[in-house]
Amino acid sequence: MDSHLPHVFAPGARIGVLTTEPVGLLDYLAPEGGVALGQLVVVPLGPRRVMGAVWGPGQGHFDAARLRPVARLIDAQPLTPGMIEFLDRAADYTLTPLPVMLRMALRAPDLDRPPAERRVIHRAGPAPARLTDARAAVLRVIDDHGGAGFAPSELAQLAGVGVSVVRGLVAAGTLVETAAPVDMPFPRLDASLPGKALDADQSAAVQALRAGIRGGAYGTTLLRGVTGSGKTEVYLEAVAETLRQGRQALVLLPEIALSAEFLDRVETRFGARPGEWHSGITRTERRRLWHMAGRGEVGLVVGARSALFLPFRDLGLIVVDEEHDSSYKQDETVYYNARDMAVLRASIEQAQVVLASATPSVESWVNAGSGPGGGKYARLDLRARYGDAELPQMGAIDLREEEMPSGRWISPTLAAAVDQRLGRGEQALLFLNRRGYAPITTCRACGHQVGCDDCDARMVEHRFQKRLVCHQCGATKPVPTACPACGVEGRMAAVGPGVERLGEEVAARFPDARAVVLSSDLFTSARAIKDTIARIAGGEADIIIGTQLVAKGHNFPLLTLVGVIDADLGLQGADLRAAERSFQLMRQVAGRAGRFGGDAGGRRGLALLQTHQPDHPVIRAILSGDDEAFWDAEAAQRRAAQMPPFSRLAGIILSHPDQPVVEAYAAELARRAAPLRQIGAELFGPAPAPIARVRARYRVRMLIRAPRQAPVQAAISAWLAGAPKAPANLRLSVDIDPQSFL
Ligand code: ADP
Ligand code: ZN
Repeated sequence: MDSHLPHVFAPGARIGVLTTEPVGLLDYLAPEGGVALGQLVVVPLGPRRVMGAVWGPGQGHFDAARLRPVARLIDAQPLTPGMIEFLDRAADYTLTPLPVMLRMALRAPDLDRPPAERRVIHRAGPAPARLTDARAAVLRVIDDHGGAGFAPSELAQLAGVGVSVVRGLVAAGTLVETAAPVDMPFPRLDASLPGKALDADQSAAVQALRAGIRGGAYGTTLLRGVTGSGKTEVYLEAVAETLRQGRQALVLLPEIALSAEFLDRVETRFGARPGEWHSGITRTERRRLWHMAGRGEVGLVVGARSALFLPFRDLGLIVVDEEHDSSYKQDETVYYNARDMAVLRASIEQAQVVLASATPSVESWVNAGSGPGGGKYARLDLRARYGDAELPQMGAIDLREEEMPSGRWISPTLAAAVDQRLGRGEQALLFLNRRGYAPITTCRACGHQVGCDDCDARMVEHRFQKRLVCHQCGATKPVPTACPACGVEGRMAAVGPGVERLGEEVAARFPDARAVVLSSDLFTSARAIKDTIARIAGGEADIIIGTQLVAKGHNFPLLTLVGVIDADLGLQGADLRAAERSFQLMRQVAGRAGRFGGDAGGRRGLALLQTHQPDHPVIRAILSGDDEAFWDAEAAQRRAAQMPPFSRLAGIILSHPDQPVVEAYAAELARRAAPLRQIGAELFGPAPAPIARVRARYRVRMLIRAPRQAPVQAAISAWLAGAPKAPANLRLSVDIDPQSFL
């Protein structure tokens, strides 16, 4: 957005309005009283009325006589010029139509309706004498949310009870119902409260970040340090500085629904809770946060990736915690990586970005390095765990040398280590990144493996749900007793381990231990997961069996042993990112093993990797603890292969119910790739996508590799603009910077 553009348009002026409809930008006349740039409006579109935002001066597409005026203004803070520029550039970067991008930014319910008065429930008095489970659940929700003020039905829903339970508590005087404005400001975070006394590395990091924030210009910093090194403590100080400057801060977390611990830490540090933005919040909370972000009435937002599209009034800091995490990449509707979009947004807002990780992505490692391609980001290192806490000792269990009866996955060596922990009242975590009971259901008579009807994927048995489930499309079917192929009865068998099956082995092998399986399938809500995690942290379990759900950010103080059941699981893929991903996951899960007794002494944590290939470079890198050597080697490999970040990639996925149709169209596109060649890009494929059929659609993939500085988006646009008309029902999506390099 050019700074000389007017920010207010006079009545009757020709303005460009970006609607949320596929038509995109259209010209209208500014209404009586004029209108501000970024103002949300309702405009006529044919016989309909649609929502839009004032995007700039009119483009002159129509004669003035045919123009219609804006119908009315929406009562919300106008989008800032920075937000408009961000959406424009994010749309260009990701090759997303602008109206779709605008919809990402307008994800607040009932924007075009005035705020209705709302009845809300507050805590009033002590709990009633007769405290049923249902009543207790309601009180827990409201106490957890520190007076957020829920509508009665929302409160009931969150607590998983009927609304009559809430009414009963109102009648008993424990809760009170009042009228409240829908959109009330968030409690102010107090940045003048003292933080913790920092150690030398932390102080140096905080100094550097503070200087950046005070400078009021853009900058990105990679904050690296092992789990427990105090990164969170450091970036909370960056948040404090941002608040003191009167600007807003955003912290992105990969598993936001599980971030109870983080919210508590914010409350301890700043005396109030931040705004929360993720799929688990209610419509009312969503609406409130959206409006308060725009008015500058929320200082800190903690959110999932989509929080990046909130209309902040003055965003001064974006923290991307666990910046390497793959959940930051959205692979539907709009393909974007929140980490990269955070950098884009910050560069527009003159804000600072902190990318925090124990195991950064190779891209960020290169960007923050001093080698080729480096120097774009600053780098700060926290070299040790905070205090006396040490990293766990690492060891491999060579499965070729272990006695492993079929149907058993816990080696005698690992079992002995578990027994030792149990004897000392400590916890053990067994990690297996496979949901369900068994990955394969096969017929012992004919060898048939049960697959999904609509996808090229095996069905995975989930014994807890008593069904087979397709992990691609979610389809389920009953576990067959007879083989669907040969019809023989009673010979179907589960092959291979999933976490549920590992749970059975644990129950048989350690009958006296209290075991918990932590896998997303076994819980009906984020709240249930949170509760279980809290109970584990409180010592109510001895053995935890988990998928990657347990790898992230939970502190289990009694946990001193981590056993990785199948360290080879992620190593085999042909994907260039396979090594990086396995390394990150194993390093992270190993980091859960702490020191028993905390800083006060005691025993060091231990992580044991069960593997058939103890000499694999990834396993050796994990065991040696020399992470920097690993990242350098990965970066060198990427450079030699001319892969990102030393080149740019874009993935094109085409799909259609008929295989010949999609193949023919893809081949035609490939023949017309001259615009790509003009920028020096190469086109690989078309080839069947890694999973060639999903939801009954055949998928064909092409991969474009371009030199690092080449205008790849413009070339792709030109290429697709010159394509022949697509057959009906063909879908084409472009994924800039795809996660998978296959
Ligand atoms: P990370 O984010 O790197 O995993 P955290 O910031 O969560 O590390 O710190 C790990 C633990 O050490 C937390 O319990 C935290 O409260 C504590 N801690 C970190 N720094 C300090 C400090 N300067 N003073 C006291 N406790 C600290
Ligand atoms: Zn399927």
